[in-house]
Amino acid sequence: MLSQLFNFTSSFADVRDRTTLIAKARWLLLILASLYAACAALFCLISEQNIPTTPKQLTIIGLSVITILSYNIIYHFYYETILRLKYVDHFQILLDLLFVTILVYCSSSSASWLWALYLLVTLEASILLQNRNEIWLLGTLGGLMFGGLLLLGYLNIIPHINLPFVDPELHYKPLYLLLKWLWVCLLNAIVAIAGAALMAAIRQERKAVKKSEAEKVAFMESAHDLIFHCTPDGKFLYVNPAWQNALGYGLDELSGKTVLDFIEEESKNRCMDEFHRALRGDKASTLEGHLVSRYGTHVMVEGSFSCTFKNGRPESMWGICRDITARKEAQEQLHHMAHHDMLTDLPNRFTFTDRLIQAKALAKREKRLLALLFLDLDRFKMVNDTLGHAVGDMMLQEVTNRLQSCVREVDTVSRFGGDEFVILLVNPETIADIERLAQQILKKLGQPMVIDGNELFITTSIGISIFPNDDTNTNDLIKKADIAMYQAKANGRNNCQFYCPDMDMHAQRRLILETSLRKALDNEEFYILYQPKVDLQDNHVTALEALLRWQHPTLGLIPPNDFISLAEESGIIVPLGEWVLREACTQALGWQREGLPAVRVAVNLSGFQLERKDFVERVKGILEETGLDGKYLEVEITETVIMQNPEFAVNILNQLRDMGIHISIDDFGTGYSSLAHLKRFSVNTLKIDKSFVNDVDLNDTDAAIATTIIAMGKILNLSVIAEGVETEGQLDFLKKVNCNEMQGYLFSEPLPADKILELLLSNKQL
Ligand code: C2E
Ligand code: CA
Ligand code: CA
Repeated sequence: MLSQLFNFTSSFADVRDRTTLIAKARWLLLILASLYAACAALFCLISEQNIPTTPKQLTIIGLSVITILSYNIIYHFYYETILRLKYVDHFQILLDLLFVTILVYCSSSSASWLWALYLLVTLEASILLQNRNEIWLLGTLGGLMFGGLLLLGYLNIIPHINLPFVDPELHYKPLYLLLKWLWVCLLNAIVAIAGAALMAAIRQERKAVKKSEAEKVAFMESAHDLIFHCTPDGKFLYVNPAWQNALGYGLDELSGKTVLDFIEEESKNRCMDEFHRALRGDKASTLEGHLVSRYGTHVMVEGSFSCTFKNGRPESMWGICRDITARKEAQEQLHHMAHHDMLTDLPNRFTFTDRLIQAKALAKREKRLLALLFLDLDRFKMVNDTLGHAVGDMMLQEVTNRLQSCVREVDTVSRFGGDEFVILLVNPETIADIERLAQQILKKLGQPMVIDGNELFITTSIGISIFPNDDTNTNDLIKKADIAMYQAKANGRNNCQFYCPDMDMHAQRRLILETSLRKALDNEEFYILYQPKVDLQDNHVTALEALLRWQHPTLGLIPPNDFISLAEESGIIVPLGEWVLREACTQALGWQREGLPAVRVAVNLSGFQLERKDFVERVKGILEETGLDGKYLEVEITETVIMQNPEFAVNILNQLRDMGIHISIDDFGTGYSSLAHLKRFSVNTLKIDKSFVNDVDLNDTDAAIATTIIAMGKILNLSVIAEGVETEGQLDFLKKVNCNEMQGYLFSEPLPADKILELLLSNKQL
């Protein structure tokens, strides 16, 4: 308590500190003065001399001491309360001057040594007051009080208190008195000047320090980085607003908490190592870690510690860290984006290749199989072009979901772009397993999808390559699956093919075909064969289907299955299809002009032709150009093309029907038409797909399908034709179930126009 009382190390910085300092000095002075009085009294007692003060004088001294005790108590402990009074500092200096004058008087005025206390009071004034003139004024007042005391004593106006060892004559020696007074005034002036200058310098310096501190605080308060100040054992002294915002705690909530409490478990050890390094004075390095906010969320930071030392011992620790959560998230997002497909969030080609390399290494070591399934959606471009990219995107997302539901977690489904997906199957047991999965995928993807209110259908072609069988290097495995996929497309889509080396030849051939296809139309390398359709009742020819042929200059005759999909992909199908239509219409009119019975000419249409905006106009134009009546034209559109986008198809079919054109649904039974759909289509004929007709007389299922289609046709008032009829057995069955028409080698193969002429002539005689 006492040591605290006499701790004089307080700063001159603020008024409070200065007043306390003065009050403490005053306590000390009082104690010393009391000791002095006690010593004097003791001296009088021992030397058997009378105490030189009268009772009246003792009373004045006693009252002065009580006054000074009281106001020093007030100044020391209740300064804030009296601070409101305007001249409180001046007042206490005045009281001090009065007290000093009384002390000087009691210690024998002119002979007293206590005049030095005036210097202390002037020093007090220079500490407490800022105005130089006021310091001078109070200094002068001290000098005047001392002078006044000497003068009053000299004139005997006040009685002297004579100490035993003092010559009383001293009070009446004018020169002595004058010199002493001048001496005190001179020293007082020096103290006033020096004190005022010193205090001004201290104040100035303090102001500069304060300003720089305020700037530092403002900097920390406005910093975006998280800044904290703590004791060497981690207890918080300060955290800036950025820290408070990021972690959700206010300054007042941090008592008892340490830095360690906010560090996430995993980062704790590393952070503490770094903290202790800083405490040892080692150079701090930056570290990354997670802080835990009051809401339990993690804040990713990057930062460092630095320690301040006093007398070689750690005094406090500063920490500064940057919230890098957003940066990390952006980095992770960037990484994710670089490795995944944006639309479906599936791994992209880059990630896929990486996984394939790893999977291959593992499969090699464990001597197991790997399979790569290359999928390409059939006629996806049509969905995009007719329904818009938004629907196309949704379809790709739905395909993604379905694919993921077909494979295990260890397998990888990836999108290579467009409508190409590649699946990596790890550790399939047998080739049969792979095939089973491929079939399952075909089935799953073939099921109708409802997208944006549209019921859509899409099929897929899958090419499969297998490790180690088909492997030489990683890219090869992908390339071979791709080649196999093209084979699947060429095989009529919606199927899967395993890669075999023969396919390389096909792939090469396909490349040659693709390049020569562009010139083939101009070079007049195409021609048309016609295959009759006949009525099962009386065998008369009802229509002639135009079937395209390509006579390649070097590769010879190329069947449509080998080039139609190529023509579709390259867009050549549009002018080529138009050429077929014009040729067929011209030919039909030619036969009519030869006087043959008027039969329809049936033209196969590709989905890519239908999706052209001006398609209907073009058909109308060709009819007008050639002069063929619409009722002698028939169009064959496959069920899959119609079902891919039924809404769109209904619209086109209606317009064609309005032109009197006969409409057939080709390859019927392979798609997903329902009775409900069929009712809405303005079709005339259903054409049962060859695949069902093949074994119609041998296989119960095929028979059932054919029978059902015929029954459905009857209900809907549609004519039904069976294609690919090759045997009498098939014919008998079809007749038995009342199929309307047939087409196939049994009656006639596709024939050139002149052969048709002969056939029609003989048919006429029927
Ligand atoms: P598709 O429309 O289903 O034509 C029937 C296919 O079956 C024709 O093959 C025909 O020659 C063949 N065929 C007819 N009777 C029999 C039979 O009794 N047994 C067997 N096994 N086959 C028979 P082709 O001429 O090779 O045509 C194949 C496909 O190419 C056609 O299938 C059609 O989808 C497409 N195609 C042909 N010409 C054109 C065309 O001008 N435009 C378009 N877009 N596609 C065409
Ligand atoms: Ca056809
Ligand atoms: Ca067909």
